Amino acid sequence: MLEEIKKKALEDHIPILMDDTLEVIEKIIKDEKPKRILEVGTAVGYSAICFVNASGGTAFVDTIELDEQRAREAITNINELGLEKNIHVILGNAVDILPTLKAGYDMVFIDAAKGKYPFFLQEAIRLLNPKGVILADNILYKGYVMSDYNKHKQRTAVRNLREYIKEATEDARLDTQILEVGDGLAITHLGTFPNWE
Ligand code: SAH
Ligand code: MG
Repeated sequence: MLEEIKKKALEDHIPILMDDTLEVIEKIIKDEKPKRILEVGTAVGYSAICFVNASGGTAFVDTIELDEQRAREAITNINELGLEKNIHVILGNAVDILPTLKAGYDMVFIDAAKGKYPFFLQEAIRLLNPKGVILADNILYKGYVMSDYNKHKQRTAVRNLREYIKEATEDARLDTQILEVGDGLAITHLGTFPNWE
């Protein structure tokens, strides 16, 4: 069933989590045991389902999707797998939804709208529990983030992804690693700095 969801998503050109990125996240879930997970960018539910499976069914995911058709397909997939108690799909623009959410997440997974990544990071910090982890997919954007020249249509995304990396690595409250798996994954923990407020 999960293989079918994956196959159909790939056929529909939906950019679902790549296998090597998923492996890293599965390990984080097994090690850190997040109970409440927030996802930005549900698509058809593939990653949210994988996260619940990696938790052995103990994690609860709130996941935000802008596209109504995709959100509907996600809900169908989640129901067919009997995971409706674990995964709550929120239809809407994450830019509007995130500010309405209350803190208390152990993991935030950012996987939508590259131009909004710096805003998503600030909201993720606000919503995260002290020992939580923030993950951002596609952070290296096919290597464009490292390139001096980028086509016009990629420029805004690249500028904002660089801004995310700069914030996540320079903010003294944060401890960030960038992994070159898949399309690039940023892993951020809240540091235990003396100036932590
Ligand atoms: N996490 C999914 C893939 C997400 S693809 C997986 O790995 O299985 C990115 C999704 O984000 C797309 O479905 C797109 O419609 C959605 N999206 C883009 N901008 C958004 C926004 N501002 N708010 C919520 N969802 C958004
Ligand atoms: Mg992605």
